Amino acid sequence: MKFTLCFFRSLLLLIGLSVLQVPAMAGSQINDVRLWTAPDHTRLVFDLDRTIEYKIFRLHKPERIVLDLHGVRLRTTHLKKLVTSDPVIKAIRHGKPKNGILRIVLDVKEVVKPRSFLLKPMHGKPHRLVVDLMRPGREVVEERVITAEKMRSKKEIVIAIDAGHGGEDPGAIGKRGLQEKVVTLAVAKELAKTINARKGMRAVLIRKGDYFVPLKKRVRLARRSRADLMISIHADAVRNRGVKGASVYTLSERGATPDKVAKALAARENAADAVGGFVSSEIDDPMVNMILGDMAKRDSLNSAYLLAETIIKDFGKIGPIKYGTPKQARFAVLGALEMPSVLVEIDFISNPKRERMLRSSKHQKKMAKALLNASLTFLKRQGHLKQTAINMVEHQYSTAHQVSGLRYLNHSEQLAIVYPAGERRRELLPLI
Ligand SMILES: [Zn+2]
Repeated sequence: MKFTLCFFRSLLLLIGLSVLQVPAMAGSQINDVRLWTAPDHTRLVFDLDRTIEYKIFRLHKPERIVLDLHGVRLRTTHLKKLVTSDPVIKAIRHGKPKNGILRIVLDVKEVVKPRSFLLKPMHGKPHRLVVDLMRPGREVVEERVITAEKMRSKKEIVIAIDAGHGGEDPGAIGKRGLQEKVVTLAVAKELAKTINARKGMRAVLIRKGDYFVPLKKRVRLARRSRADLMISIHADAVRNRGVKGASVYTLSERGATPDKVAKALAARENAADAVGGFVSSEIDDPMVNMILGDMAKRDSLNSAYLLAETIIKDFGKIGPIKYGTPKQARFAVLGALEMPSVLVEIDFISNPKRERMLRSSKHQKKMAKALLNASLTFLKRQGHLKQTAINMVEHQYSTAHQVSGLRYLNHSEQLAIVYPAGERRRELLPLI
């Protein structure tokens, strides 16, 4: 009898367990939902514990996007926490699953083009369903504004600033939780502010907020800005928490043997598209679309090297330097070769002491100032800017390094100075 009771108890327990296990086996669970607002689209990301089948379609009057997710369970708290201040999404609703299908409805404020894809687990991220609500014409409008501004003011020096990572892709994360994407944007915005405060100069931020921008698009946006130079801002990370210091990188030529460390770093930075959620088949090698001739390309790479050297010098005045000379590798984001482009690893976020510095707005301002000063020195050396004795102002960090109060010359003057009688005076630096 005792045995029978025990047997029945075990049987009940087994049945109980199997009942509990059935939904878990049959369905997928949404573990988190995130929303990212970009100027030309809004992105929703669903974290899943396994891959799913789903359908997405539009319904009109009123405009809404419908997601039918097969065998998926959702905790409502996940949807409730999403901010409703998004310019595209008015509200997110969901019904009770019918025939194993969970319906999520996105009420939208304007006509959008939905785009969606599934991502496999990678770099610590789980299975994900990405839903992009594209706002047709938004990017074109921004482009037109830039062109119109450019037409109005041809005298302007334009500096493109690329804040690394964003949105789904946090970049490297420090021990105390500082994300690379946060500090890169803070420094980028600070740099933009200091540039825009100067007469005759304008900054173009490739990323303006916390959203993901694919690397190829970053190159495209830099190209459209027709900038005189581009600075991509990143923060490095390694296992050894003692490692510190800034380093600056330029693009290596096809076929060149890059430094091992630089190559590994480029591979990490180039992985941003996979982490941030981009359809890999859409990623082109930016070098393939190269429209520059060999001479112009070499000239641009030489200029980038010079800019990188100048940045290292100025960064050395405000903090530690990891490598005293620029390094080269094939960074996808440095693909706009018509303008000197550099990638700056402002410090090691993996070093707790440096992480604290990177978080400090005072230090962020110093870094922005160092980038501005280096850009001014570089532009002056390239003939874009001319130093005037009258406006000389003592430099913040060094009396020997006087770069403030520079007079800008328009493009025709600049060409006359840099290339007298068709002769190029720009110094050529050896390429590795
Ligand atoms: Zn990075």
